[in-house]
Amino acid sequence: MAIEVAEHIRALGWPAQASTNLAPDSSVEVLHVPIAIKAGLGQLGKHGSMITPEHGSNVRLATVLTDLPLMVDHPRDIGVDDFCATCRICETNCPPHAIFPKKQMVRGVERWYVNFDKCAPYFAETRGCGICIEVCPWSEPGRGLSMMKNLLARRSAD
Ligand code: SF4
Ligand code: SF4
Repeated sequence: MAIEVAEHIRALGWPAQASTNLAPDSSVEVLHVPIAIKAGLGQLGKHGSMITPEHGSNVRLATVLTDLPLMVDHPRDIGVDDFCATCRICETNCPPHAIFPKKQMVRGVERWYVNFDKCAPYFAETRGCGICIEVCPWSEPGRGLSMMKNLLARRSAD
């Protein structure tokens, strides 16, 4: 889809380049998650992946870099922080105990963090672990939107 969007923008006369994990000729290295979070697609979860209300972390991200003038989106609070603060499901199910129970200071920012020295070897050994995403309640199809609604309603009632 990113490649098609980039082609479409170029056809409109603007420069555009798709950056995807699937395009072997993609010469642009982009960290998709921070961009997606800034664009309001979701929030970072305790398991270190972005959580969207629609699909949890079951998403494959890609980016289109362009000079096309666009409206700027903003980060969106969907209640992930509230939920992760008391939920320990991914943390207790991670075989190498790579998920920190509390937020960590990472390059001057306090955020959820995964110990990649523990995660990466297990991930490689199992050829793509993904247990933390599988067990996360946000991953259950159709559940995220109502979780978001309840969490935000609870907060405004406090
Ligand atoms: S991918 Fe596996 S090893 Fe890595 S943090 Fe998630 S559950 Fe733990
Ligand atoms: S399993 Fe629980 S703590 Fe882990 S990311 Fe999902 S909601 Fe947050």
